[in-house]
Amino acid sequence: MLLSAEAAALTERASAHFSMGHLSMGHLSALACDPAKTRGRRFAEPLAPTRNAFQRDRDRIVHSTAFRRLVYKTQVFLNHEGDLFRTRLTHSLEVAQLGRSIARVLGLNEDLVEAIALAHDLGHTPFGHAGQDALNACMTEHGGFEHNLQSLRVVDKLEEGYPDFDGLNLSFETREGVLKHCSKANAEHLEKSEPGGVGRRFLARTQPSLEAQLCNLADAIAYNAHDIDDGVRSGLITVAQLLEVELFAHYHQQALRSHPALANKPRRALYETIRRMLSDQVYDVILTTSERVKKVGACNVDEARLAGPLLAFSDDMKARSGELKKFLFAHLYRHPQVMETTGLAQQIVHELFEVYVRQSAEMSADFATGDDLRRSVADYIAGMTDRFALREHERLTGRRLL
Ligand code: MG
Repeated sequence: MLLSAEAAALTERASAHFSMGHLSMGHLSALACDPAKTRGRRFAEPLAPTRNAFQRDRDRIVHSTAFRRLVYKTQVFLNHEGDLFRTRLTHSLEVAQLGRSIARVLGLNEDLVEAIALAHDLGHTPFGHAGQDALNACMTEHGGFEHNLQSLRVVDKLEEGYPDFDGLNLSFETREGVLKHCSKANAEHLEKSEPGGVGRRFLARTQPSLEAQLCNLADAIAYNAHDIDDGVRSGLITVAQLLEVELFAHYHQQALRSHPALANKPRRALYETIRRMLSDQVYDVILTTSERVKKVGACNVDEARLAGPLLAFSDDMKARSGELKKFLFAHLYRHPQVMETTGLAQQIVHELFEVYVRQSAEMSADFATGDDLRRSVADYIAGMTDRFALREHERLTGRRLL
């Protein structure tokens, strides 16, 4: 565990380090992905006159249908439970912000980080993890359902905005970042359709680009912080409970010491705590990564992919962030009130799946005509927003569960 004094010194260490110019502020590190050296798109296209490959990927993602739907998809709380809770869209924007801030200091490619961050949750079902688990159960005998793989499927196949190809035809580096986890069986499957493509690293056990590694960490930093905020706002967890978590307690005490008046302003105290926690996690990633990069001596993007994970928390921050994650799991994600809606959300997905398999004409025509009916049903349900799934369920079963 990180000693308190050590944690307190982190901010100072970070500022000293940055002002001493140890880090390549702003200029592209040799380990950053260069859009001019991209491994390209699956379907060759002429270069855009005013944007590089990664900027163009980001723009395609922002203009996609799946991206717009993120605004009505759940993170932890169901979309209708309140207007102030995070949705998949606001979560993705927060991941992009954290990712870009870190990328800028480390000299990584900000456009690529932004593209990956904005696309990383496109494959999520309605109702968050409850929806994914239910859909996976429906698909057990038919190849399963996994949201990372589905995000790739959305950008490779399901988006329908271009005349000459399915999907968004994104660059290899963006697609590599979108596929953050993949089982061996799924990787073998991908490798067959795209030899040496985005499935290969899961078989060869190498790392993705540093930009992709960064998005994974930014994702974890973002949801740990915003789930505290949403959890407290919902009343499901309290600040008193959170004080049992070392990472939170440390910054909460620090905030009250610097601003004693916050003792009477719990919401502001909470924000100041979260802000301090976020900043130190960002500094920790920057310092730990800089040290690791120096140590392994990788000279280019390909060497970095072979060098093991380089974007990382220090061991201490990893342990403390893990403790917070465990707390949120036990007290928020597994809260009886969340579990109750989880159960109903799963029932909705199961029942929708059964109805569409029996009566495929009830789906939108694009999905009803596929040659693998169950996969089409899974694609159709996965694309739904929370509220569309609720309406469809009510229309098809005559019952309103949530
Ligand atoms: Mg995420």
